[in-house]
Amino acid sequence: MTDQELQQMVEAISLAAFHRPFAHQATFNARLKTTGGRFHLQTQTLDFNPRLFAAVSPAQQAGVIKHELCHYHLYRQHRGYQHRDADFKQLLAAVGGSRYAPALPQLAKYCYQCQACGHQYLRQRRMNVRRYACGRCGGKLRLLANRPR
Ligand SMILES: [Zn+2]
Ligand SMILES: [Zn+2]
Repeated sequence: MTDQELQQMVEAISLAAFHRPFAHQATFNARLKTTGGRFHLQTQTLDFNPRLFAAVSPAQQAGVIKHELCHYHLYRQHRGYQHRDADFKQLLAAVGGSRYAPALPQLAKYCYQCQACGHQYLRQRRMNVRRYACGRCGGKLRLLANRPR
């Protein structure tokens, strides 16, 4: 995804979920390591983590974008824009934003795949595949790799 595609995605999500335009800039910032995105108060720009966006699903990308847009729109309306504020928590829940950045694959040690539907799960810890089944279809999981890319 390019910066331009990111900008378009943020603008579209802003209109669809918040019914307000995003009138500033959204760019990828390779220096972001553990966070999915960041809102800059002074410039009202948004930064997003390119490695995270490359690794997660479009729905997860949208969740991260909505999270940052909650900061953005609340700040501009002089409402509680910080994580601990009730305004923030309510708006985040209303638009379906993610509370935390999805786990980065490079931090996940184990990769499991459902043998029935093929869905992959990234985990920090080893899991017992005899006790846990696929969350989507109930199929059997198998360990694919100890350290995915
Ligand atoms: Zn945040
Ligand atoms: Zn499955």
